[in-house]
Amino acid sequence: MERDRAETKPGRMYWGAISLVPIGLGVVIGLIFLVMNNYQYSQAAAKPAPKPAPIDGERAYGYLKTICAIGPRIAGSAANTRQRELVKAHFEKCGATVRDEAFTASHPRDGTPVPMVNLVGSWNPDRSERVLIAAHYDTRPYPDQDPNPAKRRDPFIGANDGASGTALLMELANHLKDWPTPWGVDLVLLDGEELVYQDGDEYFLGSKEFGRAYKERRARDPQSPRYVAGIVLDMIGDRNLQIAREPNSVELAPALVRDVWGVAASLRSRVFVNDFGRRVLDDHLPLNEAGIPTIDIIDFDYPRWHTTGDVPEACSGASLAQVGRVLTSWLAVPKPAPRTRRR
Ligand SMILES: [Zn+2]
Repeated sequence: MERDRAETKPGRMYWGAISLVPIGLGVVIGLIFLVMNNYQYSQAAAKPAPKPAPIDGERAYGYLKTICAIGPRIAGSAANTRQRELVKAHFEKCGATVRDEAFTASHPRDGTPVPMVNLVGSWNPDRSERVLIAAHYDTRPYPDQDPNPAKRRDPFIGANDGASGTALLMELANHLKDWPTPWGVDLVLLDGEELVYQDGDEYFLGSKEFGRAYKERRARDPQSPRYVAGIVLDMIGDRNLQIAREPNSVELAPALVRDVWGVAASLRSRVFVNDFGRRVLDDHLPLNEAGIPTIDIIDFDYPRWHTTGDVPEACSGASLAQVGRVLTSWLAVPKPAPRTRRR
């Protein structure tokens, strides 16, 4: 995932402007915002969300450690394949129908072909209305943001950036077999999110290919399964997890952001916060372009981002469990009645 280079900082501009007006007025405006925010929050919380699945945070953290023990999992590497095989076997054990969606990308450094695979685990594959929960499973080639320049070509383990999303998908898989959701659920490992060596290299190869294949299937056969919603998980393992609404998600899939944060408020989640986070470019953008309303659940305020410090010790099972609880509760929200029935 990368920072949106076009990112403006409206929050800072806003506070800068406020400081120019008399302090009394600033306090009044601040109070109004506070009341409005609290009002929205309690309104969302008023609706009781369905009971979440008994997500096991320690087990999820165990998956994260197992994945990290494989080592760097760069797209096209043997370690990347080993990780995928491990998840595939787990998904199958949990009752999923699993398929590989293989494709070939070209290496950003020399143009050689790089084999890549998006892995799709489907629960209730017969249901035509589906929900997509995805995470990238490749790791960045190098920890190029390490504070120590001498370490910027060291191995990058990606405990939060790579393993955390994958680990939570594995934990979710344990609960999906008989989970009372009205939708078919696809858990998807996306490849090639950041086979990036330098500025200008292409991001999101897996989600672009996934979106392309989905659009092609839908065009060929309009009766083929349709995604009603998509959720991308990225950097959700941080010990100090705080997930704010990501602005691109709010603009592209506002109802989904509202629903998920509403469930989080109802469950009194400590990690979903009623605030706007930083605008990020991530796998949710190609999925939205493919017609799947998709949000990014991400905490981008992580000082160890793209450093050698992104290791399991910086992550926690409790953080993963918080996200898993919200997702399983959201999955169990009854499907709205089809419009034709309301007449
Ligand atoms: Zn990254």
